[in-house]
Amino acid sequence: MIRVLSIASECAPLVKTGGLADVAGALPAALAAEGVGMRTLLPGYPAVMDALQDVSEVYYFHDLFGAPARVMAGRAAGLDLLAIDAPHLFARTGNPYMAPDGRDWPDNPERFAALSWVGAHLGVHGALGWHPQVLHGHDWQAGFVTEYLRQMGGGPATVLTIHNIAFTGATDPGRIGSLRLDPWRFHMEGYEFYGGISPLKAGLMGADALTTVSPTYAEELMTPEFGMGLDGVMRYRREALSGILNGIDTDAWNPATDPAIRPYDSPMGKAANKAALRAEMGLPDADGPLCVIVSRMTHQKGLDLVLGALPALLDHGGQLAVLGSGDPGLEQAFRALGEQNANVAVRIGYDEALSHRLIAGGDAILVPSRFEPCGLTQMYGLRYGTVPVVALTGGLADTVINASPAALARDAATGLQFSPVTADALRGALTRLCLLYRDRDTWARLQRNAMSHPVGWDQSARAYGALYARLATNR
Ligand code: ADP
Repeated sequence: MIRVLSIASECAPLVKTGGLADVAGALPAALAAEGVGMRTLLPGYPAVMDALQDVSEVYYFHDLFGAPARVMAGRAAGLDLLAIDAPHLFARTGNPYMAPDGRDWPDNPERFAALSWVGAHLGVHGALGWHPQVLHGHDWQAGFVTEYLRQMGGGPATVLTIHNIAFTGATDPGRIGSLRLDPWRFHMEGYEFYGGISPLKAGLMGADALTTVSPTYAEELMTPEFGMGLDGVMRYRREALSGILNGIDTDAWNPATDPAIRPYDSPMGKAANKAALRAEMGLPDADGPLCVIVSRMTHQKGLDLVLGALPALLDHGGQLAVLGSGDPGLEQAFRALGEQNANVAVRIGYDEALSHRLIAGGDAILVPSRFEPCGLTQMYGLRYGTVPVVALTGGLADTVINASPAALARDAATGLQFSPVTADALRGALTRLCLLYRDRDTWARLQRNAMSHPVGWDQSARAYGALYARLATNR
């Protein structure tokens, strides 16, 4: 049994703002089958502290970045947790990073430095006799683990996973003191980055192994287009970097048992869900495919391209149903689109149950991201026989097999990919989609291929297990 401490700023189902939470929540169970005993260190947000059961105190700190704090061990949602009970840092309303007014908490650098510091401390001292052999941090929030380990005189092997390199946690050098960093490490090989402090860069330089959430994104990170200024660091650490695809939670996303939908185990069962979805969203009957989108509304997700490409879908009798929230300009544009168009329905907000009904009832799911480290919704689409139409980038390139004539002939095709990521190319893909949809036999095969494509954690769990084993033995 390899002992691994996962260090994460969010973890489904307790706290979630994005895919990182899904991964942190899914890894422990997926890895148990690989002989990995994983515990998860989380900030003690109200949702975490309230859920903790069988609680015991592991450590008491007189001063954890400004006030006393405790580390509590306990269980919640089937996870073995260590939670940082530090009300001055984490007992706040809003999401993990933002106040209810949508602004980042001004002390985010210190809050997640505290997470990293406790992670390093547990790496060195263990918890109630449990000593991790590997510390597995996620994103910039765990970036300083390696800096603090250095100050503490070393510890177990470290892995840092990049879920999205767009977030670096960068802050100004005036905070070296309040972040308890070693001032002598403010240089190119340490946490310095373009004159500022970057926890992500610190972790990328310091961790024994780096992973990201798809093989294609791992390659892309080494290029200026996708590296967001860190491509040089990624090239420097090329040997340490690997891409391991995320899986999805195949219990929560199982069309045969999903309580949010009319369950089905073959594409035929989608018809009842489509009719129900149309009724719910106020869409009329139509001849073309019903496309759905479930997404954060940000530049990354490329939803502005949909606005430009939509005529290709509507002119072929297709429809669009959208669930999302985010950028106010995009929200407004989609709202207006829905009001002007009988064949477009838009819901602004975050609604887990509706996301299931959309994916069950849709014929196709659109994911036109400009970059996508892995992406989950295209995999939900595969599992539900909802053909993904995706940009050829990152994890979208690795999880969908394009319906080329050759792939169709081999019964391998599972969706449509388009490149470059422009409205023009998306228009082309939507036209192709409508033509394929009309060919009932080909369409049914595409749906069946999609539904039988593996999207669970088995393969990825083996890859993480092998990585941990290698790191633990090398120590
Ligand atoms: P990211 O983490 O960049 O947002 P992913 O595709 O990796 O993108 O994960 C997004 C997750 O959030 C998925 O589980 C998706 O279903 C969910 N999601 C996004 N927007 C909404 C929404 N408006 N309502 C319900 N679920 C949403």
